[in-house]
Amino acid sequence: MISILLLAISLWIETAPAAPVSRDDPEQADLNPTSVSTAAGSAVVVTAHPKASEAAQSMLKAGGHAVDALVAAQAVLAVVEPQSSGLGGGGFLLHWNAQQRSLEVLDGRETAPERSRPDDLLTPDGEPLPWRDATRRLSAIGIPGTVALLWEAHQQYGHLPWAQTLEPAIHLARDGFKPSQRFIRSIQLAQRLGSAHNPAFQALYLPGGEPASKEQRFRNPHLARTLQQLARDGGPAFYRGALAQQILREINALAKDEPDFQGWSATDLSSYTVIRRAPLCAPWLTHQLCTVPAPSSGGLAVLQTLALLTQPGHPLDPTRPSSWRRLADAIAWADADRLYWIGDPLGGSAPVNALLDPGYIRKRSLAMGASRGSQPGPGLPPGVQGYPFALPASGQEQGTSHLSIVDSLGNLASYTASVETVFGSRHLVAGMVMNNQLTDFSFRPSIAGQPVANQRQPGHRPASSMAPMIVFRNGDPVLALGSPGGRRIPHYLSRVLVASLLWGESPIRAVALPHLSRSGRTLVLERDSPLQWPVAPNGLASAHQPVLFQDFGSGIALLQRINGRWHGAADPRREGTAVALP
Ligand code: GLU
Repeated sequence: MISILLLAISLWIETAPAAPVSRDDPEQADLNPTSVSTAAGSAVVVTAHPKASEAAQSMLKAGGHAVDALVAAQAVLAVVEPQSSGLGGGGFLLHWNAQQRSLEVLDGRETAPERSRPDDLLTPDGEPLPWRDATRRLSAIGIPGTVALLWEAHQQYGHLPWAQTLEPAIHLARDGFKPSQRFIRSIQLAQRLGSAHNPAFQALYLPGGEPASKEQRFRNPHLARTLQQLARDGGPAFYRGALAQQILREINALAKDEPDFQGWSATDLSSYTVIRRAPLCAPWLTHQLCTVPAPSSGGLAVLQTLALLTQPGHPLDPTRPSSWRRLADAIAWADADRLYWIGDPLGGSAPVNALLDPGYIRKRSLAMGASRGSQPGPGLPPGVQGYPFALPASGQEQGTSHLSIVDSLGNLASYTASVETVFGSRHLVAGMVMNNQLTDFSFRPSIAGQPVANQRQPGHRPASSMAPMIVFRNGDPVLALGSPGGRRIPHYLSRVLVASLLWGESPIRAVALPHLSRSGRTLVLERDSPLQWPVAPNGLASAHQPVLFQDFGSGIALLQRINGRWHGAADPRREGTAVALP
């Protein structure tokens, strides 16, 4: 009997090929991860690329504040890591101002242009476009918010001249840099996804049909010019004036190959606004966890996951398989709520407080305990009478970068930015990679006559998984973190927070321990993780829960205050680095 059971379980364990690019995991992990890059000091920077970390560090050395370092790093990432984030994308900043002791969210998420329609990503017969096809559509490109966010943050918190913060990026775009292995692999991935639709993209990244070579300096003169214009005229030039005109001309000229695309208007750009939002915070253990609110649902998912996990009677011990299973269950139960309830607050605010209500969490946790790994649906939180939305078909309808910086005054920037899929839409405008963030809306605006929460509407922002976080203890920041990774972002961050705050793991171990996730009933476990599983991973399979091994492309940038000093650690699954001032 036991051997039959074991056989049944072994049949449930599969090893997947390298994780495909999907909405769940939009970029690849680096193979053979090397050691964790760490640094400690009075001011610390962790970004996704050594050149971006260097640029940020040079701003701090010149007396700049965290936000000056952030602008420099994001501009450099636009040049050296264009597959993940850049000026043609969007993002969220969580900023701690040490002097005013205030925490603020700047939402620079992309918006749907005014001529977009709710059914733009449906075929003529009303079916969702295949995801890959949708990723390259002009109608998937949202009005970019990155430049507006950087400008606003700099206007408010910057210390160095704006133009100075863009110098390292201009230099790299104009004079070139040696491409990394990851940069080249990302171009190959874009090629596999399809990039022939944009001749400028082909000419820059695939000249003669071949990706840039490791031996030759890679230059992007158009991007250098765009950055120079922004340095001279300021961030608003992206939205009004000569650069804005050029962006409109180039985007609208591409429309000849996509007749359904309605184009962008001058107002789409000139009316773009960064939205200041109240941070979403909740207590956990002895800490206060803060993150960004809707239209992101990633932070809510982290807060719910952790609350579901730590109910009385469920000790979480890393050496017990049941603890890891419970973490995977909590991830799935939090996803069920956030993917149902969260959309742009312009469409009506979600019952976020009710979704974090301790009584509600207790009930969900009990139901989760009895669920034996089955796929959960969304819950009905207190005060909500019925389900107002249709349930989006998540399976079927379904590149980012995170950086964390603390300066020596104690100001903190926790910032996640994205162009969505690897190289976004693979459309290039004025040297910038254009996002395809509007694929983050539900492709179907309604199902059986009932609207979905995350519905595409002109001027609305698609729901996101990005979750820059800052953790406080006794009112002071002690941890900052975030990650790329699409829908798995909250799964990675929950696991890191459990390791740091509950298990007391060091920053190195907190980023390098294995990740896990859930896909339907299936438990998805990290294969070849930088650190070994503390339990035998095969032992996590059960008769009712299959297990699948995959590479996970997280890119955690972690800062932690330990004995008065800040320590940084960069995820070894990507090419990021941590650097510090003494
Ligand atoms: N577009 C995704 C989001 O906003 C992020 C994609 C990624 O992490 O690569 O949630």
